[in-house]
Amino acid sequence: MSAAKNVYLFGGGKADGDEKMKNLLGGKGANLAEMAGHSDLRLPVPAGFTITTEMCNHFFQNKGKFPPGFDKEVAAGLKHIEKIMNHKFGDPDNPLLVSVRSGARKSMPGMMETVLNVGLNEKTAQGIIKSTNNPRFVYDAYRRLIQMYSDVVMEKAEGIDPAEGQGIRQQLERELDKMKRARGVKQDTDLTADDLKQLIKIYKAKVREVLGKDFPEDPMEQVWGGIRAVFQSWNGKRAISYRRIEGIPDEWGTAVTVQSMVFGNMGDDSGTGVAFTRNPATGENVFYGEWLPNAQGEDVVAGIRTPYPINEAGKTEHTAALPSLEKQFSKIYSELHAIELRLEKHYHDMLDLEFTIEKGKLWMLQCRVGKRNGPAAVRMAVDMVREKLTTPEEAVTRITPAQLDELLHPIIDPAKEKITATFLKGLPAGPGGAVGQVVLTANDAVEWTKQGKKVILVREETNPEDVEGMRAAQGILTARGGMTSHAALVARGWGKCCIVGAGDMHVDMATRQISVKGTVVKEGDWLTLNGSKGTVYQGALPLIKASGENPDFVAFMGTCDKVKKLGVRTNADTPQDAKKAREFGAEGIGLFRFEHMFYGEGADRPLFLLRRMIVSKTESERRKALEELFPYMKDDVKKTMEVMDGLPVTFRFLDPLLHEFVPTRQDERQRLATDLGITSEEFSKRADNLHESNPMMGHRGVRLGISYPEMTEVQSQAILEAAAELIQAGKNAKPEIMIPVTSTVVEIEDQKKLIEKVYEKVLTKFAMPKSKLALVVGTMIEIPRACVTADKFAAQCDFFSFGTNDLTQMGFGFSRDDIGGFLPKYLEKKILPADPFQTIDQEGIGELIKMGIAKGRAVKPNLKIGICGEHGGDPESVKFCHKAGMSYVSCSPYRVPLAKLAAAQEAAADLLKAKAPAKPAARAARPAVKKAAVKAAVKKAPAKKTAAKKAPTKKAPAKKAVARKAPAKKAAAKKAPKKPAAKGKKR
Ligand code: ADP
Ligand code: MG
Ligand code: MG
Repeated sequence: MSAAKNVYLFGGGKADGDEKMKNLLGGKGANLAEMAGHSDLRLPVPAGFTITTEMCNHFFQNKGKFPPGFDKEVAAGLKHIEKIMNHKFGDPDNPLLVSVRSGARKSMPGMMETVLNVGLNEKTAQGIIKSTNNPRFVYDAYRRLIQMYSDVVMEKAEGIDPAEGQGIRQQLERELDKMKRARGVKQDTDLTADDLKQLIKIYKAKVREVLGKDFPEDPMEQVWGGIRAVFQSWNGKRAISYRRIEGIPDEWGTAVTVQSMVFGNMGDDSGTGVAFTRNPATGENVFYGEWLPNAQGEDVVAGIRTPYPINEAGKTEHTAALPSLEKQFSKIYSELHAIELRLEKHYHDMLDLEFTIEKGKLWMLQCRVGKRNGPAAVRMAVDMVREKLTTPEEAVTRITPAQLDELLHPIIDPAKEKITATFLKGLPAGPGGAVGQVVLTANDAVEWTKQGKKVILVREETNPEDVEGMRAAQGILTARGGMTSHAALVARGWGKCCIVGAGDMHVDMATRQISVKGTVVKEGDWLTLNGSKGTVYQGALPLIKASGENPDFVAFMGTCDKVKKLGVRTNADTPQDAKKAREFGAEGIGLFRFEHMFYGEGADRPLFLLRRMIVSKTESERRKALEELFPYMKDDVKKTMEVMDGLPVTFRFLDPLLHEFVPTRQDERQRLATDLGITSEEFSKRADNLHESNPMMGHRGVRLGISYPEMTEVQSQAILEAAAELIQAGKNAKPEIMIPVTSTVVEIEDQKKLIEKVYEKVLTKFAMPKSKLALVVGTMIEIPRACVTADKFAAQCDFFSFGTNDLTQMGFGFSRDDIGGFLPKYLEKKILPADPFQTIDQEGIGELIKMGIAKGRAVKPNLKIGICGEHGGDPESVKFCHKAGMSYVSCSPYRVPLAKLAAAQEAAADLLKAKAPAKPAARAARPAVKKAAVKAAVKKAPAKKTAAKKAPTKKAPAKKAVARKAPAKKAAAKKAPKKPAAKGKKR
């Protein structure tokens, strides 16, 4: 016997392994061991053994050779099964049959192979016929074995890649059909024992003909063939591409479980099924499942026969007439129900179960944490905390950002969607569902919406000029563009349903219609989009609301609030956005930008005044424009503060790139010139003077306030007067003033003097004491010099807010607008692990942030510190902010819940780390086994020493590389847009 343990036994109330050993035994093997052996469970599990994932790695590292002594371990495993199950493998009189099952650390549904009924041959078949008196059943099992075995072991595992439709499985399937036709029957089950016996002969001949080899009659050969084939299936095409998508490392490997067969197809007192401890589609706490009498497991999953509901509660209008297990076999149902309850209590989570009934006896074949959709996941998390089945900390770690995101958008009624044919497919760019009438221009989208219609904006592609139409539309559909296209970026920011790159669609502006492979949809016709899947349907499908009013969602946000330490604010510039964000649980506004009031509806006049101010030459010209602008500003500020009643609102002073505001159209230039009373030559001169070679580093942010103090004064006045008016009206306004783009504390000192003067004036004007309206002034930290001198800044500031867009731009020296030209190569060549504008570059920019925080807090220990860049809504970056000790993050309204979730998950991780000194010990168990393996190898064969030693050392960096791959991929998919979306872009 070799020193390393490669085979773990289970059955008969005992098991070598347990649920914690998923890395070594795979999910299936570990959970079978848990069910069979844990003292709280000891469930009826057919005996078996599991071969470790490390053996899988050994298999591949040694070109398919197993280590010496392994055959003895497998033989001992079979003995163990024989003893418990009272059958003997290969014994013609009392044969044992086994299944050879795959199972990786993480479930990879349908991606790997399993072979059932192993051990059947001409002789053992006779033995089972004698003991069961059921030749039909035995011949059926035999022909299934030949079919599965020749496919999985003799063809796939051998690397044979047959032509389309010429695979051995399909060829045998055709023989089965031929036989059914010859006998004039429809169902497999209508074939008699003799038919099947005949079919087995035909099958064997076909296998020989196609594969040039005989189906092996030797049961031992069958088991070994099965084991090899399951290992081999880890590197099958399907499994590899699935791993790429899911980011599962190649070196995890699969385990193999060899387990005694139990038969659900032995007659009407037998059956099989799949069940969930709660409804995986709704999350409702009701035992849910499907079963089939007289069938084997795969029949339920493969959909060969329509399965029956497991209980009365699970019946729908379609399945009402079908027999439930609850009614048909009430005793077995209660046994299963009791097991299901015990399992859920044991695992503290919803489980997915496989079971089989053999002649009235129930057997458990699998359990694992069940997959669920977003709404169900949230409901279960909330329920399980209430039921005290889980802690809030555990509950928040169970929801993925994508699952939470599903709840934030209305979705197509899944029942209706299922029965509707897909019309068109594209890339899922913005989540949720949308229904509307087709319009082909942004203008129409706005106009039709004004008339109370719901529209889908359909374009060849979209550009920044379409934003108003995109905003108005229910959903957006484009023929061109990828996940990074303008439409996709904008839609995601708004949480709007959007499908891009639907290449089969042709948009014909002349005839005002679109066509898809000959089918025409006219302007005004109805379409339904599923932006989470990228599917388009003709007509109007019903949507169901899954939003902030969902009580489960609200309760779950409450759970996150309880667990998280980090505050979550929102970036909002309008009362509408502020309201949405509040619904989603925003705890204030971290960034309100004045720029917004110069775009979109009703912005004509303010924009004109702003332009006039920009091209003003004298202070009096500028003051005049600003005075006219003042009421617009105050009104805008006031409405948003009103919505945010009781919560802080951070107003950032204007930070425009001046040249962007100089009109290019001649008529607009003329209008401004006339208004200012200057000639158009003079106007052109002034406009030219505004030109900057590098506007991103030009006359912007606080620099404007230094040049034109009146700008600072008017903005401060708008903010403070609006707040004073609200306070006077009994509201609780909490404004905070934020100065952007600062690089030296002297800038702040300069601006603060101006702001303080305005503050005194406002207090006097409203006869208000300081205690009622506090002056809070802080700065954005977005220039490296500010981080380095943050101690000085802190002395002058009530708060810092890291502007990580500019900080990344200035820290890297990457222009945000030009990064699209070179970032893809950087990601492809792994110069950068991810787009630093999406996920904070912790190594560099992160260090700048940490320095800023440390220096700031050294002077003011309670300094409030936040972040208001795009990163504030990126889960990885939020986690960084938590670790860095920030007070809050601020992100777009739709990302508020996701930021809360990330913050809660990070806080939960802290808690679990602090709580669990037992964990490292449990983890240490594995390296210990590995060390033993290395030692053994060292003792036995010096040649192997290097190989065995190499494996673990190689593993660590390899894993890291994979872990880093994931964000890189994400970033690549979201790479910066080529065309700068000038309007409304964040600086
Ligand atoms: P998958 O991971 O694809 O679900 P499984 O290993 O679970 O593969 O097996 C496929 C089907 O065969 C399942 O329905 C399972 O219940 C059934 N099955 C596997 N092993 C046995 C067994 N020992 N006895 C009866 N049915 C089995
Ligand atoms: Mg299974
Ligand atoms: Mg900025």
